[in-house]
Amino acid sequence: MQNNTNIRELVEHMINSSKPCSCGRDHTCRLSSFRVADTSSEKLIPEILDQYGVSRIHFISSQPDMDVLGNRVLTYISSLGYHVTSSVFPPESEFVCDHVSAGDLLIHVPDDAQLIIAAGEKTICDLAKFVSSKDRIPFIFLPTSASTDTFSMSEAEFTENDRRVRLQLSSPNVIVADLSVLQNAPMDKTASGVSCVMASLVSLADWRLHAEVTGSYFCQVVFDELSSAIRQVLISMENGVSPRDRDLMEDLISCLIACGISSDICGTTAPIRGTESCFARKAEMLLVSENITGVSFETLRGISALYAVKLYEYLKKNVPSFESARAEFNDIDRVYLHKELFRVFGDDEGHRILSSLGGENYYQRAARLRRLDNLETHLGEYISLAVRPLLSSSRITSLLHSSSSPLSFREVGLMDEEIADVLVWGKELSKNYGIARLLADLMLLEQAVSDTCRF
Ligand SMILES: [Zn+2]
Repeated sequence: MQNNTNIRELVEHMINSSKPCSCGRDHTCRLSSFRVADTSSEKLIPEILDQYGVSRIHFISSQPDMDVLGNRVLTYISSLGYHVTSSVFPPESEFVCDHVSAGDLLIHVPDDAQLIIAAGEKTICDLAKFVSSKDRIPFIFLPTSASTDTFSMSEAEFTENDRRVRLQLSSPNVIVADLSVLQNAPMDKTASGVSCVMASLVSLADWRLHAEVTGSYFCQVVFDELSSAIRQVLISMENGVSPRDRDLMEDLISCLIACGISSDICGTTAPIRGTESCFARKAEMLLVSENITGVSFETLRGISALYAVKLYEYLKKNVPSFESARAEFNDIDRVYLHKELFRVFGDDEGHRILSSLGGENYYQRAARLRRLDNLETHLGEYISLAVRPLLSSSRITSLLHSSSSPLSFREVGLMDEEIADVLVWGKELSKNYGIARLLADLMLLEQAVSDTCRF
């Protein structure tokens, strides 16, 4: 029998922590309640509405999500006498979260709406975050799959000119998970959720490394709590990922919610977006430029996590030579980087990335030599602290396998040269230090990529 109360308790604890944390920050977030129902989650809603004292509600969903949950919720709350209006979008795969859909939605939300209820997945949730922030009204979200950690984040992803931008909006005030709905979601959605929590182990390792090497913000409490919750979920899945397993699904959705919250309460996405997210982002843009669609960002993060863990394992097996790392001036090939950023991301995004990198030049000779001095003394200690939450590459491989997820970028359509490109250059998409930057500092990255990551 699994100990499945811990992760829900962790979410409750994250939401309601009132004391200042030992990291020096007050960990507060807008999400004030996370509820789980075995079935008939709509029955929990009137109680929540009473707390807000509202009577006029706008409901947002997509057509397939209406069939699995939305109609039930809508019928029930209408029958209780609430004044409910609604906006129903096509399937989430058939439209994007952009200013057109957001504008269209805003027109249909009545001026006197007092609260938003949304049922769906990432895109519906992001649109509801937009309306809730714009109109400053509360928002209840009912996920229809355990597929991503973004539900509980205040950040939303919008598409502008074929490129993704992240907006700082408001997270839902309340999330209600209906396990009977999550258990019946398509398997690839659940697999995305598994990939997502698995990838966050790499983010946590990188966050630790980033903090040790650069002296930047880190919270030991969030790190310990989140890594143990994720490991608990993943270890319980090692005999197979079965959405039929009620406790497992409750753990998975709770863990995804905990991941999203940890980014909001720490004020940084570092705990849940590390080197693996840079790899995934770069791979995603290559796939988009080749018109290959249908692979979720979460799936790409799962594959990327496997590559990143192999890089950590490479470092544990290969002793770096600080002497030769110092001798070689690891100046970045800026001409190549500029060309790459513009080729992959186009003008606006390329410029945005380049300017965002301006503040953190990891390639300055003096700064790099100081880092190497520091690393020569502390590398073993930093690595052992960072890798503590990680699972081995063979365990990650078997988890990906048992959730029927792809195991390599080749399986989703990238060629070997593109894969090497992703692994060598993906790190430039983040300001944070991580395993790929560390290997680059030690002049080991290209060797590590060619030795371990071409599979
Ligand atoms: Zn803290």
